[in-house]
Amino acid sequence: MRKDSEFPTLRLVSHPLVQHKLTILRDRETPTKIFKELVDEIAMFMAYEATADLALEDIPVDTPLERALGKRVAGKKLTLVPILRAGLGMVEGIYRLVPGARVGHIGLYRDHDTLQPVDYYFKVPGDAAERDFFVLDPMLATGGSAVAAVSSLKKAGATRIRFMCLVAAPQGVRKLAEAHPDVVIYCAALDRELNDSGYILPGLGDAGDRLFGTR
Ligand code: URA
Repeated sequence: MRKDSEFPTLRLVSHPLVQHKLTILRDRETPTKIFKELVDEIAMFMAYEATADLALEDIPVDTPLERALGKRVAGKKLTLVPILRAGLGMVEGIYRLVPGARVGHIGLYRDHDTLQPVDYYFKVPGDAAERDFFVLDPMLATGGSAVAAVSSLKKAGATRIRFMCLVAAPQGVRKLAEAHPDVVIYCAALDRELNDSGYILPGLGDAGDRLFGTR
């Protein structure tokens, strides 16, 4: 996992398998079924790296032969929070690695007058202060949704939040870091820029449409 001195909150997951799969995701010819499978797999690999610093505690375990000292993940419970709808594509892959995780949901729309994201759906476990949150969205583009999602979680009491995406734009990383410098951002690629419609270039297109076949 690489750090970038220009983007201190960013962690780039540079694992060869992640980079290989990301290239297939970018390909406009990749069909929906494969796209969905790849988002799931990349999210799982990314979660493997993003959980590398989880604290462990000792726990005794009885093997068939004798009592041994094992380890288990200590402390805070993990909660996955996909931003609807594209974030949903990342949930199952991570859940396979961390089956004890809870799953919250955040739905956001952009207000036509203020152009600000407003949450129309927000549901996370009640004990937010006790939990580690992973906010999921494949694309960190303008950063508007990411900032709003993290703000809503903090309002609900969350204090330990990470953001996981597949592709990020520099603008989005900067905006999230300015608003929430405590939130580490994991991504598989930091792309060049946004176009006038807010799409990431080179990007992979509309992640929600490609995941759910709604183009
Ligand atoms: N959302 C997407 O799905 N794709 C982009 O490129 C930007 C935002």
